[in-house]
Amino acid sequence: MTVPDHPEVVAWIALGANLGDAQASVLAAIQAIARLPSTRLIAASSTYRTAPFEATGPDFVNAVVAVSTRLNALALLQHLQQLENGAGRRRPHRNAPRTLDLDILLYGDASIASPTLQVPHPRLWERAFVLVPLAEIAPDKVSRAQLGAVASQGIERLT
Ligand code: ADP
Ligand code: MG
Repeated sequence: MTVPDHPEVVAWIALGANLGDAQASVLAAIQAIARLPSTRLIAASSTYRTAPFEATGPDFVNAVVAVSTRLNALALLQHLQQLENGAGRRRPHRNAPRTLDLDILLYGDASIASPTLQVPHPRLWERAFVLVPLAEIAPDKVSRAQLGAVASQGIERLT
């Protein structure tokens, strides 16, 4: 059992998959995140289909969730990487197709710049597949102008 090591913080996590049954992988990952130690799920967006962005392979399925967690940010990242590995994630090259990608978008209002973890996620504001599901569950975190800036990127709501 993981000993809670941190006050409760709300963290926002982006999910993406574009290999195998991507929709099933994302939905299973949401359930797995909800079961992480010292963590509870607060909100989950719809799933969305998006064309690969600076990446190759089939279309992606994306979603964003909010959790309340007592894991510190690095511990949360390690748990998410275990879930990626459990889903069969391989990293043959940068931006390769992936069975599951779990990125920490925001961790409370923390700014983290370590070699293994940058929060807020440095590419958060460039990507419709993050901003659109984030705006669905956290409209106060995404402005109209920010959504407008990614409006040319194709994204289709699935569920
Ligand atoms: P990407 O998500 O950029 O397509 P990966 O999932 O392979 O690529 O992640 C590469 C590395 O990014 C991870 O090993 C992790 O240490 C690092 N990383 C830095 N910041 C974050 C973050 N906010 N969330 C998830 N991973 C991050
Ligand atoms: Mg990642």
